[in-house]
Amino acid sequence: TSFSDLGLAQPLLKALESEGYERPTPIQAQAIPHVIAGRDLLGIAQTGTGKTAAFALPILHRLANAPKRPVRGRCRVLVLSPTRELASQIGESFRAYGRHLNLRIAVIFGGVGHRPQSEALARGLDVLVATPGRLIDHMQTGAVSFAETEVVVLDEADQMLDMGFIHAIKKIVPRLPKERQNLFFSATMPREIAALASDLLRDPVEVSV
Ligand code: AMP
Repeated sequence: TSFSDLGLAQPLLKALESEGYERPTPIQAQAIPHVIAGRDLLGIAQTGTGKTAAFALPILHRLANAPKRPVRGRCRVLVLSPTRELASQIGESFRAYGRHLNLRIAVIFGGVGHRPQSEALARGLDVLVATPGRLIDHMQTGAVSFAETEVVVLDEADQMLDMGFIHAIKKIVPRLPKERQNLFFSATMPREIAALASDLLRDPVEVSV
């Protein structure tokens, strides 16, 4: 399989070429066509498998095919990540793969000032990558809300559990639109994570690598 066999838009294929990616990893080959088709996904995969591109590429494909002007205080895609390091890496991946698309991408996490983050949120975003605690702060000040959110990614769900973020996630999820695509990733599936996945996902495709 090649990336073009997976049906990805031309600007993404071009970016992948500059990244030096020759072919999809197994999770990418298995997940990307289903995510492009709009299905929910349960991905059981560790870091290092190429899982970031497995969700970022089909999401960027959607944004490439249906560009919209960002709406103030809204984001079309929300990615939740347990740590600032991971959130930053995910943001960098979206920027790299999306370099030929004209997108607004922001990463927000705790431990730094709120102000630049709320300014970025105010401009409106295609992609928001956030850690759960800081996202809730911005929800509470009204800096962000989710009426325009089409896709939600929960990355490293088991690490979210270990870090005590499950309560935060349970506060965020009810604020999301009912009609949305959900992509859920975890390296392991303890009972609490399996329960969260089944709450969140609608008829998901399951990919395990
Ligand atoms: P991840 O599992 O998302 O943390 O990705 C692990 C590493 O693999 C990252 O450094 C990616 O840049 C790289 N990577 C992801 N997909 C591919 C691919 N198809 N070909 C080569 N490298 C890749």
